[in-house]
Amino acid sequence: MSNNLIGNKRCSRGHILGQMRKNGTGTELLELFRQAIDYDQEMPESVDVIGIFSAGQMIRCSICGDVVDFHQARPRRRFAARAAFE
Ligand SMILES: [Zn+2]
Repeated sequence: MSNNLIGNKRCSRGHILGQMRKNGTGTELLELFRQAIDYDQEMPESVDVIGIFSAGQMIRCSICGDVVDFHQARPRRRFAARAAFE
């Protein structure tokens, strides 16, 4: 569980909705946080995970209400580029 982290799932405004992981069979799953995290503020020490979602779910940001379509299998490149951009 710990070393399969893919990255953070964010809404269009950059709030972190949860973390994406790969399970043992390579399926991408989203651990949805109870409260979305505002990236401009300090990352809390611990977050509540309210559920595990699979690809195809619509996730609503608890901060701004943006609805995000959780897609599976985005290229890793894209996350690397995004991280560098930040
Ligand atoms: Zn948001």
